[in-house]
Amino acid sequence: MNVKELLKECAEHRQAVLATNFYNFETLTGVMRAAQATDAPVLLQLTRSSIDYMGLHQAVSMARTAIADYGVRGWIHLDHGGSVELVERCLDAGFDSVMIDASERPFEENVATTRRVVELARPYGVNVEAELGYVAKLGQQQGGGFTTADEARTFVEQTGVDALAVAIGSAHGFYKQPPHLDIERLREIHAATPVALVLHGSSGIPHDMVQQAIAEGIVKVNLATEIKDTFMRNLKAILTTTDEIDLRKVFPKATEAVVELLIEKYKMVRG
Ligand SMILES: [Zn+2]
Repeated sequence: MNVKELLKECAEHRQAVLATNFYNFETLTGVMRAAQATDAPVLLQLTRSSIDYMGLHQAVSMARTAIADYGVRGWIHLDHGGSVELVERCLDAGFDSVMIDASERPFEENVATTRRVVELARPYGVNVEAELGYVAKLGQQQGGGFTTADEARTFVEQTGVDALAVAIGSAHGFYKQPPHLDIERLREIHAATPVALVLHGSSGIPHDMVQQAIAEGIVKVNLATEIKDTFMRNLKAILTTTDEIDLRKVFPKATEAVVELLIEKYKMVRG
C-alpha cells in the first residue's frame, strides 16, 4: 500500500493517520514503539532542519530500518518542503510522500510550484501534499489567511495535488489562547474537493476537537511540537535528579514519556 492508498483508506473509515516528526534515535524510537503498541500506521516526517541535522540518507535509513524492525505500516514524508530542489533530493532518496509548501507566496505562484512538484513526483508514484491558506509558523500569530472552499477546489483542479494542508484555525507550536477550529469551513472545503485534507499544528488542540475535524474530512494529522516538548521537558527533569553520565540509562526515561504521549495521540486519530 502506498500513501495515496493509505489516505483513501483513512477517508473510508473516517480515521486519520498520525504524521509524526522525529529528530533523533530517541524520538524515532518513541514514535515506533507507540505505533507498534496501538497497531497504528505511521507517517515519519522529516523537515529540512531535521534532514540537515541527521543527514538525508542517514535519516531515511533510520526510518526505513525502524519501520521494518518494528513491523508497523510506515512511510517517510517530507514535511514543509520549501523548495523544488529539496523535494527532488527527497524523491531521489526514496521518500514515499512529499510536501511542497509555497503557501506564503501568491496563489498563482503556489499553483505553479505545486504543479511542478506534482509532475516531478509522478514517475515516483508518491503522494504530494501542498498547503493553501496560511497556517502560522512557529512563533507567529494566526491572523486570517484561512483556506476557502472555492480556492481549494480551484487549487486542486489546477495542480492535481493529492493532499492539501488547510488553514482552519490551527497553528504551529503551542497555543497562547485556546485553539478553535472552524469546522464549518472544513465541511465546506471537504464538500468542494475530493483531495485528502491535512491538519497541521495539532499540538495542544483538545482531542475531541481533532476528532471532530477527522469526522469532517481530515485524514492526516501532523504532530511535532508536543513530541519535542515532552522529550525535552522530561529529560530536563531527569537531569536535575541524577549525575548519571551513561546516556543509555538517562534517555530511555524521556523516550518512555514520548511513547505514552503518542499512544494517546494514535488512539485519538484512529477513533
Ligand atoms: Zn506543519
